[in-house]
Amino acid sequence: MNTIKTIGVLTSGGDAPGMNAAIRAVVRAGIYHGLKVMGIKRGYNGLINGEIFEMDLRSVSDIIKSGGTILQTARCEEFRHEEGILKGIKMAKVFDIDAIVVIGGDGSYRGAKDMSRLGMNVIGLPGTIDNDIACSEYTIGYDTAMNTALEALDKIKDTASSHERCSVFEVMGRHAGYIALNVAIAGGAEVSLIPEKTFDMNKDVIMPIMAAKNRGKTHFVVIVAEGVGKAMEIAEKIEEKTGIEARATILGHVQRGGNPSVVDRVVASKMGAYAVELLKAGKCNKIVGMKDSKVVDYDIVEALDMKKSIDEYEYDLVRVLSM
Ligand code: ADP
Repeated sequence: MNTIKTIGVLTSGGDAPGMNAAIRAVVRAGIYHGLKVMGIKRGYNGLINGEIFEMDLRSVSDIIKSGGTILQTARCEEFRHEEGILKGIKMAKVFDIDAIVVIGGDGSYRGAKDMSRLGMNVIGLPGTIDNDIACSEYTIGYDTAMNTALEALDKIKDTASSHERCSVFEVMGRHAGYIALNVAIAGGAEVSLIPEKTFDMNKDVIMPIMAAKNRGKTHFVVIVAEGVGKAMEIAEKIEEKTGIEARATILGHVQRGGNPSVVDRVVASKMGAYAVELLKAGKCNKIVGMKDSKVVDYDIVEALDMKKSIDEYEYDLVRVLSM
């Protein structure tokens, strides 16, 4: 591999709080290590279209505290095909880019893997609120999103408690239940429904609510992961079968915004700097992850073959602690 002199950085797929902190870290660490850093706008679209500009130390001033991504993000259909990827690589070469740091989720990594196969050096950083990257126990944005969801749930619980209702609260997470499970534990929910676990309406939803009611509880919370969906239907069923008034709230995109938490700023800063250190050491085609609270890296092909599963103990804990 030739020495890397110029790197590009882009954000792709769903945005997540802390992406800006990661961009800042890549730019500042890159310049610190003597590299030229180019910002690529709008994910792979901007790469193909040449929306590329040089970033200096001040171009990332004051962004560590902001949600969203100053580089914007997008989904790019063209990049799913070899022709599109080759166009992107060609454009990167026009700007003398030797390696690209991709901040995004699983989908973005597949694009990055294809780029690496076709000759562009890449490093992936896990940026998604869903925490669904197999090779990393933590993804940038996860903590902030959970705190946003929890703050909203606490408010919903106040009104559910006054009215003695059941709240069915749907949180994001795409195909994964990590946000739902942790918000259920932190919010003291009676039930958590996540896509990793099949559930039976009577046994897993109605029975725990009735048991809680019989123990004297007057309000109830059911957390539903986006990957399960149907929050409205679930609320209707609960009302029909228990006679308890039930209301559904679907929190939605508010979970993707907001100032990143301490955890997200620190993790993003460490991972961004680590990505640059890998490139400086001549190591490419890696995904940066977190293992036992330490920043680590994996070969991109191996990383994409990894699997991750939810913690069964945490899943059971929701039920145990809501007694
Ligand atoms: P995320 O990165 O958050 O998982 P997406 O799944 O939407 O978000 O992926 C973001 C972009 O990554 C897509 O719009 C596409 O350009 C690229 N991408 C996704 N899947 C693939 C794939 N299988 N092959 C190549 N590129 C992909």
